[in-house]
Amino acid sequence: MPRKRIAKIIDQAEQKLKLLKELGISELPREKVDPVFRKKYQALERLRKEMSDCQRCELGKTRTCIVFGEGDPNAEVMFVGEAPGAEEDLSGRPFVGAAGRILTDIIELGMKIPRREVFIGNVVKCRPPENRDPDPEEVKECRGFLERQIEIIRPRVIVALGKHAAHLLMGSGEPISRLRGKWGEFQGLPVMPTYHPAYLLYNNSGKREVWTDIKQVIQYLEKENLE
Ligand code: SF4
Repeated sequence: MPRKRIAKIIDQAEQKLKLLKELGISELPREKVDPVFRKKYQALERLRKEMSDCQRCELGKTRTCIVFGEGDPNAEVMFVGEAPGAEEDLSGRPFVGAAGRILTDIIELGMKIPRREVFIGNVVKCRPPENRDPDPEEVKECRGFLERQIEIIRPRVIVALGKHAAHLLMGSGEPISRLRGKWGEFQGLPVMPTYHPAYLLYNNSGKREVWTDIKQVIQYLEKENLE
């Protein structure tokens, strides 16, 4: 290969690394820095900034950190939980406690996807005191942020974890035991509701049902890949 061509390739690689650094990314495969990824990343960062001092609902008064959500802006699968818990409130990251470890196992051991390649968020972004359920007013005030995250990411599949996510995304008030395992739709995207990982901490029998639901997601992705 001519030396000029090699120099150009090195220069392009340096430019990409510089851009990654500016975006605050230290570990990503090079192919991720495509225009779509950059656009989505920047849109999510704008939204994060917009929400940074949010006081739209009462939860803003008691939270430590807003838990925006995390993961790949180009994620094919998006998980939506209910609300941050104590560890999430302190760290600013979603699903980092005991339930988070179960979710990570579902993603990495069950679905064989690195956790960093999905996106994980919640219906409300601030912790309800004493881990109570978010009330309808809080969900109403916060849901717009989740909707915008979904609009930006446009995953191939959304997994709704627990009743609050399922109710919001399925537009149904039915118990999660009846909603789980049946496909729904939100913003034209397929939604699979299942039990919240926290439920599995105390209900071993729920693991089989969650796995049945997750297998449907895996099969959907595989089938789409073949088409
Ligand atoms: S829960 Fe949502 S709406 Fe309420 S303060 Fe936090 S970010 Fe704002």
